Amino acid sequence: MCAGKLCLGPVDSAGTDNAIYRLGEGIVARAQRALDEARRSKAREGRRRKGTTMSPWDALSRPWQAAFAEAIAAYLRHGSAPIGAVVVDARGEIVARGGNGASTNRLSHAEVNALAAIPTRIDRSKCEIYTTLEPCPMCTGAIRMSQLRGVHFAAFDPSAGFTAYLQANEFMREFPCSSHPPTNIALELVIVSLVTEYRKRAGHDRWRERWTRYHPQGAACGGSLAASGAHAEWVASSLTPEQLYDHLVSVGAP
Ligand SMILES: [Zn+2]
Repeated sequence: MCAGKLCLGPVDSAGTDNAIYRLGEGIVARAQRALDEARRSKAREGRRRKGTTMSPWDALSRPWQAAFAEAIAAYLRHGSAPIGAVVVDARGEIVARGGNGASTNRLSHAEVNALAAIPTRIDRSKCEIYTTLEPCPMCTGAIRMSQLRGVHFAAFDPSAGFTAYLQANEFMREFPCSSHPPTNIALELVIVSLVTEYRKRAGHDRWRERWTRYHPQGAACGGSLAASGAHAEWVASSLTPEQLYDHLVSVGAP
């Protein structure tokens, strides 16, 4: 077993192989976190010099930033609905990620993809999932079957949201899973804007009245974005999730 340094010698068992893989994974994750932090620190310093305050992106917790980044990858890179999810362990470390891929596979939902990516060594009963949109019936079922202890969602889904059913019967309550509805009004607005933009562009108009009743400002913003061709512009640009988020908060700031 290698303690604290990378082994490069011959691999003589599956256990050693897995240990090396996990160590490598940890090093890459730490390097990525250090890079992200350096980038955020530079941006903060720039804002401090200009006398401006914390950006909307900086106000998001790390799981929400990561879930939003997954949503934007699904939306801009893969042409799917803008929905992303991450799973965090007991220490709040991100252990799995997933984005929506329903444009090519109707069952490829962000939450299911994130749940399927949880490493087997992780104790799921201590994990919570952060998803940008309230889980649908399939994902609510998958969360129950994964025996997670909590689900956080950034915006309600007035057409397919199903988290109320975590309490539906004895089976669903067997492994208690707390439900955490939206708490950040800026993030909620951005998610509703993007989801309603996607729905409008994709011709999913069946539940439009429900979305407008739930969040008139977000639904109006989504309609304007669809009419202006914003999605095509964003696909052609090199906008980061952070830049897109701060832009959307600034144009629709509640
Ligand atoms: Zn789903």
